[in-house]
Amino acid sequence: MAIETGLSHVYPMGARLNERGVLELGGCDALELAREFGTPAYVMVEDDLRTRARAFIEAARAAGSKAGLAAESQEGRAAGSQAGLAVGHEHLAIVYASKASSCAALLRVFAQEGLWCDVASGGELHLALNAGFAPERLLMHGNAKSEAELRAALRHRLGLIVIDNFDEIDRLARLIAEGELADRAAQPVLIRATPDIRPDTHEKISTGQADSKFGFAMDQVSEAILLVRDVSGLELQGIHAHVGSQLLDLEPIHRAASQLSTLGAFPTWNLGGGLGVAYTSHQRPPSIEEYVGAVIEAARLHLGAHDRLLIEPGRSLTANAGVTLYTVESVKRNVSTWVAVDGGMSDNLRPMLYNALYEAEVVDRFGGDTACVLAGKHCESGDVIVREALLDDPRAGDVIVTPATGAYGHAMANNYNGVTRPPVIFCKDGQARLVVRRDSLDDLNARDVL
Ligand code: PLP
Repeated sequence: MAIETGLSHVYPMGARLNERGVLELGGCDALELAREFGTPAYVMVEDDLRTRARAFIEAARAAGSKAGLAAESQEGRAAGSQAGLAVGHEHLAIVYASKASSCAALLRVFAQEGLWCDVASGGELHLALNAGFAPERLLMHGNAKSEAELRAALRHRLGLIVIDNFDEIDRLARLIAEGELADRAAQPVLIRATPDIRPDTHEKISTGQADSKFGFAMDQVSEAILLVRDVSGLELQGIHAHVGSQLLDLEPIHRAASQLSTLGAFPTWNLGGGLGVAYTSHQRPPSIEEYVGAVIEAARLHLGAHDRLLIEPGRSLTANAGVTLYTVESVKRNVSTWVAVDGGMSDNLRPMLYNALYEAEVVDRFGGDTACVLAGKHCESGDVIVREALLDDPRAGDVIVTPATGAYGHAMANNYNGVTRPPVIFCKDGQARLVVRRDSLDDLNARDVL
């Protein structure tokens, strides 16, 4: 997929500097967006989201035919493929991990593009259903699913529940015995395995290591399989592993696949998400095509002609489609030059959580060389958005952009220090539309009971 951008690949598709040298996103002038919607604001480029979704689906088809495999016909199974995975649209389902960003407009785009959706709570299930995902295209995750969440999953008979632990098997068995499935067919499930693989990523987003809070240890999986097969309302379809996020090296996926292959044969494999993205211009993550190709390559030797492979990309669908706009409130010089903006850890927690690196520019003066610290407005010294920013003579009133904030920004936003969470703006063909409004001050009191 060639995501065309006149700027570095960290910016959304089609982003450019216009004739006046101002950043343009989805054909909209960033200064005008800031004026119209205020700052901080998340800006998402709709065509970028759609292009990435289509690139995943197209990459699955292309990787399938390159591997000499028959693509699925409209009617169903591919004719004549005897061994290996037959990659077609239903043989390789792209499941959007909605934890990355779950506003209704964005979920609706991915539902329209034919993706599945992974929900990690009853709340995400509610959002995905409201956005138009059919229950059979939903998959529920969670290492601590509540009874209410499992009840909701069974009532809707989701496409898949990914079982994480022994208590969950007991709980599902009890809820089914109580009639939660009514007279519907058995609930399809996967078992999540922890393949004892630690990828090269931040420890807080590594999940595949033996000492993980997620999934069954490899030596517990066979017992889990027996227990699940014993519950008449559950249909064990396969196995799941997600080794971690922000993967810039795809080798751990191959290791995960060979680990999973020791667990037996299953008609469905889910190899999780985790494709890394470029947060800064020097980062060159694998492309969507390389990633999908690697996952298919890793899985196909272990899957039969009619088996199904699922992957769960989150950030790689949304991160680079979005940016955040801020306004500079003050510039202070001591040992460093501190450029303080009107947002921070309330709209982007990632620098605080993972020391995540970002870039920044003044939207109408790109390419500056004043070394500064782009600081947030919160009462924490650690509330720094970009530790080593290079800006062009930043002043109060300037509008600043930080690219690659389309994942885990809006999703993790909070009201610390009583700030009102930013709006989300969708831009397309020069038109901007508000898809999530800014919190009002009254929203800050909305849950108080006096
Ligand atoms: N699948 C599972 C089970 C996850 O835990 C996560 C992230 O936490 C994802 C998919 C999505 O990961 P990413 O956003 O890195 O693609």
